[in-house]
Amino acid sequence: MSPTDLPTDAAPADAPAVQPLLTVRGLRKSFGSSLVLESIDLTVGRGQVLALIGPSGSGKTTILRCLNGLELADGGTITIGGEVSVDFGTAPVRKELTALRDRSAMVFQNYNLFPHKTVLENVIEGPIIVQGRPRAEATEQALTLLDRVGLAEKQGAYPFELSGGQQQRVGIVRALALRPQLLLFDEPTSSLDPELVGDVLRLIKELAVEGWTMVIVTHELEFAREVATEVAFVDGGTIVEHGDPKQLLRNPTQERTRQFLHRLL
Ligand code: ADP
Repeated sequence: MSPTDLPTDAAPADAPAVQPLLTVRGLRKSFGSSLVLESIDLTVGRGQVLALIGPSGSGKTTILRCLNGLELADGGTITIGGEVSVDFGTAPVRKELTALRDRSAMVFQNYNLFPHKTVLENVIEGPIIVQGRPRAEATEQALTLLDRVGLAEKQGAYPFELSGGQQQRVGIVRALALRPQLLLFDEPTSSLDPELVGDVLRLIKELAVEGWTMVIVTHELEFAREVATEVAFVDGGTIVEHGDPKQLLRNPTQERTRQFLHRLL
């Protein structure tokens, strides 16, 4: 399955080449008295890949979790695909939040597979239980996707029987099986042994080439340079600067970005 199978909005004649799929304006989030996201603005075009980089604790994961409705933002708006728009300045209604959650799927740093379910059960759970799709159709799709990532023969295995790289590929398949418009990756390779990182990054790169729209939190700067269409540097709950990956990573305009990149080199 590719994202081109999904319904798209009709583009007006004078639309820019890339229609925004995701638009975030003024997103704010506090935990207790601690302001974690100040006023986040983001736009991601259809088929584009945004990489979020920045120091630990700067708010990157919280941005992803707000996009997916796993955290409720305190203010701002999130619009996905034109049809789903949630204004967190007013109390969002349940229907809006469900629509927001339906549009994206998250791939977690620690895979977050159900330990007591098989690989196949992990993949079909969301499509059947959350989306109400028929079991036979969900199973057929799951097997096609597992085959694609070389894990069809592991369909009956439990997560503990798989390597970290295999578990993360199941995590990615589980996200794809939800047929989201937007894929969210939270440091997808941070928990992997170095020799397993390449396989997972290659798979994500293939998805980018196929035209999936993605937001990826990553410390893999070389990967971000190669795969992302845009990089945003997050620090202290704000987007300090964003732009073309090659430009920003080689020649940032902000001193904070420069210092961060310098520490990583
Ligand atoms: P990053 O992904 O950039 O490492 P996070 O978004 O995980 O940053 O965290 C940003 C800040 O929010 C950190 O100070 C973190 O401790 C805090 N934080 C994140 N989640 C929670 C939570 N559920 N409760 C309280 N504080 C949180």
